[in-house]
Amino acid sequence: MEIKFTPEEEQFRSRARAWLEANAPRELPPEHDLKARRAFDLAWQRKLFDAGYAGISWPKEYGGRGATLMEQLIWYEEFARTGAHEPSTLFVGLNHGGPTLIACGNEGQKSFHLPKILRGDVVWCQGFSEPGAGSDLGGLSTRAVVDGDDLVVTGQKIWTSFAHIAEYQELLVRTDPEAPKHKGISWVICPMDAKGIEIRPIKTMGGGSDFCEVFYDEVRIPRANVVGKLNDGWRVAMSTLSFERGTAFLAEQVRLATLVGQLIELARRTPHGGVVPRGSDSASGAAERSRVKTALDDDEIARRLALARAEVEALRSMTYRSVSRTARTGVPSAEASLIRLFFSELQQRVHGLAMDILGAQVLRWDAAGSRGHRSTPTAQSWVSSYLLSFSATIAAGSKDIQRNIIGDRILGLPR
Ligand SMILES: Cc1cc2nc3c(=O)[nH]c(=O)nc-3n(C[C@H](O)[C@H](O)[C@H](O)COP(=O)(O)OP(=O)(O)OC[C@H]3O[C@@H](n4cnc5c(N)ncnc54)[C@H](O)[C@@H]3O)c2cc1C
Repeated sequence: MEIKFTPEEEQFRSRARAWLEANAPRELPPEHDLKARRAFDLAWQRKLFDAGYAGISWPKEYGGRGATLMEQLIWYEEFARTGAHEPSTLFVGLNHGGPTLIACGNEGQKSFHLPKILRGDVVWCQGFSEPGAGSDLGGLSTRAVVDGDDLVVTGQKIWTSFAHIAEYQELLVRTDPEAPKHKGISWVICPMDAKGIEIRPIKTMGGGSDFCEVFYDEVRIPRANVVGKLNDGWRVAMSTLSFERGTAFLAEQVRLATLVGQLIELARRTPHGGVVPRGSDSASGAAERSRVKTALDDDEIARRLALARAEVEALRSMTYRSVSRTARTGVPSAEASLIRLFFSELQQRVHGLAMDILGAQVLRWDAAGSRGHRSTPTAQSWVSSYLLSFSATIAAGSKDIQRNIIGDRILGLPR
């Protein structure tokens, strides 16, 4: 591993830091008002676009910044350090749909959609998973029949994040039921206002409805919306998923390191109460109780915080190593699954620790409560992100699937 930043890269860091500190919104949008979140994210994206910071990894010819991997790393570090808001409702357009169009779309599709995504005009969603096809995505059964210049789509998708506030969907459909499982699939741009689409939000334990079930009843989509060739959608989809498992997660990993720093601050100012001191019914327990004033005074909490800090440093080194190797070879590293697995489990441990620090306060959580300021999460926002952290080991490939990939491609274990 060799990470040395050049003078130009250091200058880029200073410029990015100054711009983010001056321009990143300070307040966060209401978590469960999706229309407000959509408007907030689109406005923030427009601001990034106007300043030349939208599509940091997108090629310049498509309006992006064309940043090198090192610059991307620097950008995400500064983004997380400032506590800048991640426009999560725009994730699919910016990190899946757009990059897939760049890789596999035709000129008409690129010139129509890419500027809209980058400027913050539209929201995209992803219609891949089905009730019978998640980890085994190749088993999808939503079918599309060619009828003249249209595809006629019938079936169901599930867990479609932001379907109810999206204009477009990257949709996987089976166009040749006779072909082997991974053949006969097509990748289609589906306009979400097409006739025959019904969207039913799913309520989560966090109180929100970020994702939905989507039903298609003979929905007509122009054949011109197929990206790549008809029946070649698996290849197109794999290019999308490689983006999802690649640099798109860099920002989240960097953000976790910032979060651990905030957690240490939280422990420093939270009166002890989450964890009962050991031996609290004895005389030495009484002495212990009088010594323990904040959560940070608790040896067990302090030990877990130190471990979390060491683990985010390990994560940072793994990420640097992977970025450094990819920058040298130009080939995405097979370690991505290893980093993803370590990151998602660490994210859950860090949020579990936050709950132990906050103790009984977490019971006051209200799904509709405020999330506060960007750089000082409230107890409310710690609980919300704790509830959300359960999904970290499911979304974008479950932890078991990541383990399968590690066993297969890194360790070379027999199947
Ligand atoms: C927050 C969130 C947002 C999401 N957003 C979207 C979205 O916008 N669009 C979309 O299309 N999908 C989305 N998903 C769905 C996600 O892609 C799937 O949940 C994921 O692929 C797992 O599929 P599944 O839920 O069908 O679980 P299953 O595949 O049924 O898995 C069930 C269990 O079996 C295990 N398992 C399955 N196969 C194997 C195997 N071969 N070896 C070992 N263990 C195995 C899994 O690890 C899991 O524990 C989202 C999910 C979450 C949590």
